[in-house]
Order: sequence, then C-alpha cells, then structure tokens
Amino acid sequence: MKHTLPKLPYGYADLEPHIDARTMLVHHSQHHAAYVAKLNSALSGLPELHGYTATQLLQHLDEVPAALREDVQHNAGGHLNHSQFWRAMTPSGGGVPRGLLGDAITRDFGDFESFKTAFEAAGVSLFGSGWVWLARVQVDGGKLQIYTTTGHDNPIMRGHFPILVNDVWEHAYYLKHENRRAAYLHAWWVVVNWAEASKRYERSDHVAEHNWEDEGGNLLTVAA
Ligand code: MN
Repeated sequence: MKHTLPKLPYGYADLEPHIDARTMLVHHSQHHAAYVAKLNSALSGLPELHGYTATQLLQHLDEVPAALREDVQHNAGGHLNHSQFWRAMTPSGGGVPRGLLGDAITRDFGDFESFKTAFEAAGVSLFGSGWVWLARVQVDGGKLQIYTTTGHDNPIMRGHFPILVNDVWEHAYYLKHENRRAAYLHAWWVVVNWAEASKRYERSDHVAEHNWEDEGGNLLTVAA
C-alpha cells in the first residue's frame, strides 16, 4: 500500500481570514505531501509493513528496523497528524461543543472557557515544534486530557484517542502571525470543527481496534 495525500475537505482559501490561503497551500501541498513521500520512501524496502496504515505504523514501531524507525515515526506521524488536523477545521466552524463531548469537557475542565484557556496555554508553552491535543485516555473513566507532543508524535502512541488537534509548528502560522503563536492559538477557535470532534469522541471507546480511521483521517464505521 502506498500512502497518499488526502484531499482537503475544503478549499485553500476557505479558512480565510483566520488561516490564510498561502499558508494552507504550502502546508498541505508541500509540508504534508513531503511527509507522505518520505514515508513511502522509508518503507520502500520493507514490504512486510506495506499493509499498515499510518496509525498502525505508529502502534507497531517495534516492527520497524532500528535504522529506519525514527524516519518512519516522524513521517507516519506527520502524515497522520496533518490528516487529523485538516479535519479538525471547517469554514463553518466555531461555536461550542454539544452533546456527549460538550458534557465531557464541562465534567473534566469545569467549563468551555476554562478548557479553551488551558488548550491555548499548553500550545503556547510548548518549546519548539509540535502539536497540542485534546485526547481521551483509556483509564480513569475515559477522562479528557490536554497535552502537547513534540515532533509528530500522536496520542495513539500512548494508547490515547485523539479528539482535537492544533498544529503549533511555525509553518502552520508564521506567514500570518509571525512569532505570535498565542494570537494564532486564540484565533483558531473560529474554524474548529466541533461536529468532527464530537464524532471522534463518540468513537473513542474503540481505540484498540486499529481500524477506526482511514489514511485521510476519516473515521470508519465500526460494526456493533
Ligand atoms: Mn504542520
């Protein structure tokens, strides 16, 4: 199986003015495309790994030869994280999470404003390049946690289910916000796709099944 760059679920200019079209174009067609190309290249001599999705590669890094492990981790993570990130946003985004996810955010963070403040603060305080996540852990009654990962690590590597993600690599915001990462994080809520995050939360009991998401970050149907 060759890994492929998923189409964006909207146009490059559709998140304007919050995320500019030039940033989206370069981010998707250059950065994300490069992770996909490098992942395919790293795996070219490893046919035994060709059946794995990017998610499954991150869950089975011990099966990757040591010399290529870091390469596969970085590029499979870059591919998966960006696929999830594009779908975390929508031109008709914003508002507040409702339903089970809304209830869980209130339960675990007190209220929605406190959640947003904590998510932004985590993103601001990350040193260097990485991602800020809302993830569901599999212990403690399936509580939600906010944390950052460095490089392209994904919560799936800790056995957690990723619910919502923002990219805090400089390439995600530098053209518009320059060094003002806090401004980027604060403005981002306007494009957040809470319907997608809610769908992910409602599927988060199935993290162990390895097959809950396709290469484009689309959730798959699980048989009851
Ligand atoms: Mn990125």
